[in-house]
Amino acid sequence: MLTIEFDALDYLADQRFAAAHYLLDGDETRGWKVHRDGNLALELGPGYRLLQTHQCGICSTDLARHFLPFPLPQVIGHEVIATDDEGRRYVVEINASHEARGVASDCAFCRAGLATHCPERLVLGIHDLPGGFGPWLLAPVKSCLVIPDNVPDSAAVLVEPFAAALHGVRKIAPRDKDCIAVLGPRRLGMLVVAALAGVRTREQRAGRDFGIAAIARDPALLPMASSFGATQTHHLSPDAPALADQSFDVVVDTTGNPDGLTTAVRLARREVHLKSTHGQPACGLEHLTELVVDELSLEPFPAQQPQADSGLWQRLATGERLRVAWLASQAPPKWLEGLADVQCGSAVDLAEHYAGLSDGLPRADVAVVDSSSQADAAIRPQSGSEIALVRPRGAVLVHPDANVLDSVLLQAVVGRGLRLTSSRCGDFRAALDLLASDSELRRIGERLVTHHFAANELKEAFEVAGSRACVKAVVTHGNGGSE
Ligand SMILES: [Zn+2]
Ligand SMILES: [Zn+2]
Repeated sequence: MLTIEFDALDYLADQRFAAAHYLLDGDETRGWKVHRDGNLALELGPGYRLLQTHQCGICSTDLARHFLPFPLPQVIGHEVIATDDEGRRYVVEINASHEARGVASDCAFCRAGLATHCPERLVLGIHDLPGGFGPWLLAPVKSCLVIPDNVPDSAAVLVEPFAAALHGVRKIAPRDKDCIAVLGPRRLGMLVVAALAGVRTREQRAGRDFGIAAIARDPALLPMASSFGATQTHHLSPDAPALADQSFDVVVDTTGNPDGLTTAVRLARREVHLKSTHGQPACGLEHLTELVVDELSLEPFPAQQPQADSGLWQRLATGERLRVAWLASQAPPKWLEGLADVQCGSAVDLAEHYAGLSDGLPRADVAVVDSSSQADAAIRPQSGSEIALVRPRGAVLVHPDANVLDSVLLQAVVGRGLRLTSSRCGDFRAALDLLASDSELRRIGERLVTHHFAANELKEAFEVAGSRACVKAVVTHGNGGSE
C-alpha cells in the first residue's frame, strides 16, 4: 500500500479555485481511496498507477469545465507530462476505461474497440479523476506511454490535443490535390494545421500533395498558422473580399462558436469536420456537441441502392448486419432490407430496443432521419439522459425527401451530398511516433505555448489562458522532469 499527501487547487462550480488537502492511499491491484480535507471523496477500483505531475497544459475544455455534466469540486487538468520515481517521463491517455485500467469486464464498448467511449469510464482531470493541475495523479496503468528522449517537454505537453488533432486529420484522410481549410486556428486549430503539415510531409514522400489553408478573424494568428505549415492564409473580415462558396474540399471547424459551423458549411465542397464542443445549438441542431462526443457523422442517405463496393455499409456495420434505426416518415426502400436489419419507430422506443440487445453494442449503427428534430433525437433521444440511439462512430443519415428548411447544414447534406464528420480524443502512440520522426513538428511547443505559469498561479493562468493575448498556457510543477 502507498500513501501520499499533498495540497492542490480544486476547481469549483462557481469557477473559483480553492486549496484542498488530499490523501491518496491504495495500490494498482487493490484500488485507491481519495480523501479530500479528511473526507473520503472517491473510491477507485484497481488499474491506477501513482505518478508525479511535471507539466499540464490549459485547454478550452478546462476553461469551460463548469458547463460539463460532471461533479465539482475536482482537481482538473488533462494535458499532462508525468514522471515515475525513476524520473521517466510519460504522457497519459485520459479515458480510464476497463481496457485502459486492464481490468476484466464484459463491457461491450471496450470489447468493440471503443474504449474511449466506455460508458463506465472516468476521465483524468475532467470526470472525477484528479488531474494534472495537482502534483500527483492516478493514471490508468495501460495509458502511460513513455516519452521518447528526442521529444522535448515543450512538445510532449501538447500530445493530448495533438493526438486529437491528428485523429481528426486521419479521419478526413486528405486526398491528392485537395485543399483542406482550418477555420479559426487557435490552441486546437493550430495543432490541426501542424498535424496536417506532418501528414503532408509523409504524403509528399509518396508523390502526393494537398494544400492547407488557415482562415481566421484575428489576423495576428495567420503568420503563426504559416509557421505551423499552412500553405495559404485568409483573413475573415467584413472589409476583406469574401471567400467564394465551396472554396475548399474539406473545412475543419475549430472555432468553438456556433457561427463557425455556418461558415464552414458554406466554404466546404465535400466535408466539414467538426472539432468544437461549445454546447450550444448551431445550424438548427441542438446536440452537435454530443455528436462530437460520440464522433458521429451526418451524411446523405443514398437515393438508390449503393454499389456493392460502396464504403458506407462496410464502414458502418459493426456486426454481421448493419443495424438501421429508421425514424423517417417515408417507408424504408426494399433494397435496404436485404442489406441491413431495419427497425422502424420513434427514437425513444428504438433506443430502448437496442439497449436491451445482448449481442454486440446496445445501439444502432445508423439512424435515418427526415428532419433536424429527428437528427437531434437520433443523437440524444431523451432530454436529460446521455443514452444514445446510435453507437459511437456511427452515422445519422438524412433522407433525400427530408424537410431541411430550418438547417443550412441539412440543406447541404441533402442538396449537394456534403458530409459532416467529427472526432474527439486521439491515439497517443501515433502522435508520439509522428513527433519523434519529424524534427520540425517537435518545435510545435516553442511556437504555440505563449505563456508559462507555476502550479500555484492557477487563477492567474486561467485568466490569461482565456484572453486573446494567449494562444496556449502551460503550468509547471516544482518537481523533477527534464527541461
Ligand atoms: Zn484538452
Ligand atoms: Zn468499458
